[in-house]
Amino acid sequence: MALEFKTPRGTKDILPADISKWQYVESTLREIFERYNFSEIRTPTFEETELFARGIGQATDIVQKEMYTFEDKGGKSHTLRPEMTASVMRAYLEHHLGEKRTLQKLYYISPMFRQERPQAGRFREFNQYGIEIIGTQNPLADVESIILAVEILRALGVQKSTLKLNSVGCQNCRPKYKEILRQELKPVFSDLCNDCQKRYHANPLRILDCKRDKCGQITESISPIYEYLCEECATHFDKVQEFLRSVKTEFVLDRRLVRGLDYYTKTAFEVISDLLGSQDSICGGGRYDYLAEEIGGKHVPAVGFAAGTERLITVLEKSDLLPAFGGSVGLYLVSLGDAATKWAFKEANELRRAGISCEIDYEKRSLKAQMRDANRLNVRMVAIVGEEELNSGMIVLKKMDSGEQESVSANAFRQVVIERLNRKTEPAGSPAKP
Ligand SMILES: [Zn+2]
Ligand SMILES: [Zn+2]
Repeated sequence: MALEFKTPRGTKDILPADISKWQYVESTLREIFERYNFSEIRTPTFEETELFARGIGQATDIVQKEMYTFEDKGGKSHTLRPEMTASVMRAYLEHHLGEKRTLQKLYYISPMFRQERPQAGRFREFNQYGIEIIGTQNPLADVESIILAVEILRALGVQKSTLKLNSVGCQNCRPKYKEILRQELKPVFSDLCNDCQKRYHANPLRILDCKRDKCGQITESISPIYEYLCEECATHFDKVQEFLRSVKTEFVLDRRLVRGLDYYTKTAFEVISDLLGSQDSICGGGRYDYLAEEIGGKHVPAVGFAAGTERLITVLEKSDLLPAFGGSVGLYLVSLGDAATKWAFKEANELRRAGISCEIDYEKRSLKAQMRDANRLNVRMVAIVGEEELNSGMIVLKKMDSGEQESVSANAFRQVVIERLNRKTEPAGSPAKP
């Protein structure tokens, strides 16, 4: 019979063999976020479509082409979240989080959904981690976002990454820069790609991050926006650079770094790794002082970043930075015969309640097959129980790494196992602590 069902296009299963990587990365992320005093936020998987249309920008590719939108039975339009920032800001405003403490530092580790053309490293359901610092104008918050994005990579051992920095100005200075862009691009208009010819009129800033070679060559030497910032934006940009230097965080200015979303203001940054090929961005972020008003709230300045968890794991794999996992089972109770299996089941139950991870055989297999199973699970110890052992009241305990054996009385069995497994020796193949 042919298998009828497969994972939908652009989605994936994370199987037990891979789950340790995810758990390792996610627990490291949580630990770092909490060190910087960020609290986790979880929002619904779907929101009203209008939130994303307004919060991300009607003209963006995400809203135009990539959203999973559906009508519920009442005819209301909902959308699976394609990113998290609009949802977090909606939650901040809805629950008046700013009234308890003006400054809110929030993080998330969540799946997102975009109907993109599936390709290597791109999924329709993908995972992001990110932060939002809501409620302050201070460039220190921009810098904290940036160094946190970089610190995560450093803590996981990633040596080679590049931090790119730009400013996208504000509603005062950006229109003037758009005019300058149009003037500079006018003589080469016909060399731009079709998309960019449309962007020329609608939002010429977006020509700067066009991925086509020809457009890239044209914009390589375009006048940078940071030469045309208003006084407020220029001071902010200077402060961000000054603070970054003060904590010895290297960066390069990139005049073509513009975020595709309309609500971004001032700081824009990106962390890239050449290990990712053409999809080289691990993390992107910036300031978005207009978002709260865009979705119907008051003026609330904010800054944050979002990063792709799949991409981070790819970088860790390619740099050989993932620890060896496995060996979480402490004891395997090998049992031969019904009476022994009954005894093993009861002991396993008691040991599990006492905090020891253990496994038994369910299939009445031979001694050899059960030992093979124990090896496959990379257990630390094996106990062997047959009719003879039950009659004599002496159980054989074997340490798998050294092969050392001892006979333990059935009465003291549980106590001895707990003592042996709670000793401070790490099991073979257990993950190294970073
Ligand atoms: Zn400005
Ligand atoms: Zn183009």
